Order: sequence, then structure tokens, then C-alpha cells
Amino acid sequence: MPLNKISGFSKTLINWYLSSKRDLPWRLNNDSYRIWISEIMLQQTRVDAVIVYYENWMKKWPTLLKLSKATEDDVLNAWKGLGYYSRARNILKTAQIVVKENSGKLPEDIISLNKLPGIGRYTAGAIASIAYGKQEAIVDGNVSRVYARLLALEEVINDPKQQDFYYDIATSQLPGKQLSEFNQGLMELGALICTPQKPNCIECPVKKKCLAYKEDLVDKLPNRKKAAKSTKLVRLGLIIKKNKKFLLIKQNKKGLFYGLWEIPAIALKKEEFNEKTIADTISNELKLVGEIENKIYEVKHTFTKYRETILVYSFTPEKIPLKWQKSFFSLNEINDLPMGSAHKKIFNYMRKRK
Ligand code: SF4
Repeated sequence: MPLNKISGFSKTLINWYLSSKRDLPWRLNNDSYRIWISEIMLQQTRVDAVIVYYENWMKKWPTLLKLSKATEDDVLNAWKGLGYYSRARNILKTAQIVVKENSGKLPEDIISLNKLPGIGRYTAGAIASIAYGKQEAIVDGNVSRVYARLLALEEVINDPKQQDFYYDIATSQLPGKQLSEFNQGLMELGALICTPQKPNCIECPVKKKCLAYKEDLVDKLPNRKKAAKSTKLVRLGLIIKKNKKFLLIKQNKKGLFYGLWEIPAIALKKEEFNEKTIADTISNELKLVGEIENKIYEVKHTFTKYRETILVYSFTPEKIPLKWQKSFFSLNEINDLPMGSAHKKIFNYMRKRK
């Protein structure tokens, strides 16, 4: 494993980054709060989709102190549409801890950063190096792909077991200064030039140092482990209306959808079901007695390792349990509720159907 520095690599990369970087709102300055929020938003979400969320967020909560006083519903609302809502909940928890324990300033060292909710190894390294100029490496899919090609490495880039290997490589290449520009340059190179498909080697600033380019291995690298098979889930979702309003339930089970609003639903073993049996299950699980009516819609979505289908049917219950009597919302009100993408699709459809 080559741990020697690639001659001239960091200087070339930094110069290229400084002359070619995209003008993005989180690059206005190196404030740790701004860097942190951008890094969390950018996990699993494209840059162009993040920009407007980021700008709105910074208008609403320009400082970590202001954010720490927000409610969970406030942050979930601001996050609406970005998905993976646990990220928003963890941001709020971290802001509150940092205000209480560290005078409102994110710690500078990765060990302390890593202890905060939602801040993993990558984000800790990004905050420490970009905001505080610390000698810390960052490794994500972009960075490991760049190194796998630059150094013609065979180690797969998407296996957690190889994470230490790629961190060792990335650490070995850190320059003595300009850590912020270097790490951002690596990310930018992976995002703009050394892309997963059809990398733009001709315009690559480091092509003269790239082994994959020299040895004609660009199309073969990086190596990837085959993704594990996803699990199929099916749910039956119920549209229950009262005076043009819809019954929605706030999820209170800890997990991915905690705090989000959904239509009442039950799990199914498969997409076909017997209406009589299903009415019993609805009665047992949701305490709603009534009959399944017509099918309205069907939505498919994926999250973590699951592929879920929600079959949406209208349902008229004999009566609504007391705890849900005030849980009806108009389509306008639903606009302002935090929801997962599948339920948002359901109500986009309901709006069109109106
Ligand atoms: S030369 Fe091509 S493969 Fe090598 S780092 Fe540049 S873009 Fe990536």
C-alpha cells in the first residue's frame, strides 16, 4: 500500500480547487455551524436540491444558538422534502448539547465531534478540517473513488471493512496546510471530474499523477462490493375523510419515520388481500371498524434496505377513536406537516384528484 505522498498532488489539487470551485452558499466562509449544516444536508441529497433548503435554514436560524431554541416540529418542517428526518432531529439535539456544554461552539477535535448525535467520522473530519483547518482526513464515496483511481487500488470502496484502509490512504496525502481547500478540492474533484461514470480525465488537473489513467484502468476502477438485496414491504394505507379533511397520525415509534405524519396504515404480507380478513386486522390494529372501499392510488418508494409499496384505499369507519378526533387536516394544512416522501406523493396525488 503506497503511503508516500504523491508528489505535487496536494498543491495541484488546491490550486485547481481555488480556481474552479463552484460558488455554493456554504462556501461563503468557514464558520463551523454553516459547514456542519451543509455536510448533514448533503448526506444522501444532491447539491442542487440542498441549496434552497440551506439558504432558507440559514435565514431562519443564522446561528447555532438560535437553532438550539427551535422546536422539533420547527426543524422537521424546515427539513420537509429532504428525507431521512433523523438527520434534522439529530441536528437539533446536537445544537442543544453544544449550547449547554460547549458555549454554543462546535468542538474542534474529531473525538468530541464524533460523540455528538448525527456526527459520524466523515462529518467530524469535514468540520475539523474545513472549519478549523485540522489535519483530518475525510473519506466518502467521492474521495475513496478518487484515491482508488489515482493509486490504482483494488480494495472495494463500499465495504465498511475497507474504511480504515481508505482513511489511511487519505491521511497519508494530507498537506501540512490549507486542509480546508485540500479536502474540499478532493470532494469537488470527485463530484465534478472524477465522477462514477465517464470521468472527465482530459480536463482532470491531476491526470499526470493518476495511475488508473496511465495504465488504462479508469473504466475498471473503483471496485465495488455487490449491494445486498433489498427487502420488499407492503402496507395498506387508509384515506379517511371528514369535512374535506384527512386523518393523519404522527408516528411515535422511534426510527426513521419518528415524528412524521402518515395516513393510518397496516402491514400486509403481499399485495393481494381478502377484504373481510383485512377489515378484522384494521379493527384489531387501528381500532377502526368499517369497510375497505375503492383503491385510490399506489405508491412505491425505497428507504435504507427496503422497497415499500403502499396501497392506498378509501375507508369509512363507523366512528373515529377519541385520540384521533382532532387529527384531521385540510390539504393546505398538510402542506405544512413534516412527511416522508411516500406520503407526500399520496397527497400530491390527492391534490391533483380534487
Ligand atoms: S485522471 Fe481520470 S481517473 Fe484519474 S483522477 Fe483524474 S478523472 Fe479520475
